[in-house]
Amino acid sequence: MKKLMYLITIIIILGACQSPEKMEQNTSSVKGSQGEENNPEKTEQKESKSIEESNYPGIDIITEIEDTETLNASTQYPETAVDSIDDAIKQYIEAERNHFNKQLEDFEVPPSGQEAIFNLSYETERINDNLYTFDFTTYMFTYGANGETRKNIMMADVKDQEIIEGQDIFDDTAENRKLFYDYILEYAEEDEDLSLYLFEDELKKWIEAPDNDFNNLYITKEGLGLSFNEYEIAAGAAGSIEVKIPFDQAQNLVKEEYTRFLETSNVDDGAQEQRDTEAEVYTERAIDQQTKKVALTFDDGPHPEHTLNILDTLDEYDAKATFFMQGKRIEYYMDVAKEVAERGHEIGNHSMNHPDFTTLSFKQIDIEVSRTNQLIMQATGLKPTVFRPPYGSTNEEINNFIDMEPVLWTIDTEDWKNKDPNIIEKRIRVNMHDDAIILMHDIHGTTAQALPDILEYLSSEGYEFVTVSELD
Ligand code: ZN
Repeated sequence: MKKLMYLITIIIILGACQSPEKMEQNTSSVKGSQGEENNPEKTEQKESKSIEESNYPGIDIITEIEDTETLNASTQYPETAVDSIDDAIKQYIEAERNHFNKQLEDFEVPPSGQEAIFNLSYETERINDNLYTFDFTTYMFTYGANGETRKNIMMADVKDQEIIEGQDIFDDTAENRKLFYDYILEYAEEDEDLSLYLFEDELKKWIEAPDNDFNNLYITKEGLGLSFNEYEIAAGAAGSIEVKIPFDQAQNLVKEEYTRFLETSNVDDGAQEQRDTEAEVYTERAIDQQTKKVALTFDDGPHPEHTLNILDTLDEYDAKATFFMQGKRIEYYMDVAKEVAERGHEIGNHSMNHPDFTTLSFKQIDIEVSRTNQLIMQATGLKPTVFRPPYGSTNEEINNFIDMEPVLWTIDTEDWKNKDPNIIEKRIRVNMHDDAIILMHDIHGTTAQALPDILEYLSSEGYEFVTVSELD
């Protein structure tokens, strides 16, 4: 892998000027002012809405995109077919959008060449058969110096068909507020960042505020969670904050009628941790060092249709490849991720939400990487050892911080841009070299279509198809 590291260094330098993956995934791009003049779709695409099935029964993923000269907006949210829940979600989204529009009004004319960004995305956690949490993150950029990140977690009880809010579950007495404060302090002392940056008096003000509705409180699989926005109870360096209250403490704070959610969610705790430490990794095959080698890599999936088509084509050529998956998609397509691993391919980490790591705090990076690793392990039983930073955007400090092998690429097919199978293949032919790492995306049907010809060509040239870990 030494050679690989060397290549990576070069590519990082190149990547800095090219932003090669920039527009691959509109819905999760948090940075949009750079490199977009390269994107021919920019002026054509105005508005689109797509519906995908999620991995959870009865829940769809809706993605709405608006893309104009001055605005890059993407909104992704769940639709449950339960009106009371869907209405509450829509109301929340509308409120976020109004907040954004209000900020925009301060700028009558946008600074030239700048786009405003509204990016709302979410993650789902299934607490038990009936209770889901939707963890929303909104990133807004309205030409100011910094963007704004806002968080909100909603709990949806699909059986009783209602949204549960923090104020519903918290048993709000003076005694409980005191207890709650102590628990949060206890958590903060153990947490490296929080112990440094916590504003204790802000926390005290928050807990004592008569109008505190505790709407940032939610149920997790391990107990209770509490989310605070940036600057709310800690210095900006700590970013947004999640406090975790373990099950035995959480029980004391929750109203009797909601403790059932805690009870059913606490089953699997120790078992999960044990699995993580014992997890196996991808098994490298014995590779003939004399042959020419190529590592095909597929990013941003899994996709319920295209990924599976790609697997079939790879099988025909006895080819193994590497799939850098996004955690938020693994959540929905667990079975597809499992299938990829079972058919002998390597799975790498491509973050939960596809943010630009160079804009995140280490704590946020840690959450992006470790949650994705958890999901990969959950789906496949294997612990990934390689990661690819979204957009190839990283630096030495980030690579040192993440305890995995960073892998970029040596040939970019730009398959997200030219959705034309012939162009994808031509880019490979023109740039092909021994030990190439080829970047493609398994979320595009055209990439799946291009693959048979690519494999035919590369095998006729004598290349052996290996995973990134199998390259020297
Ligand atoms: Zn990507």
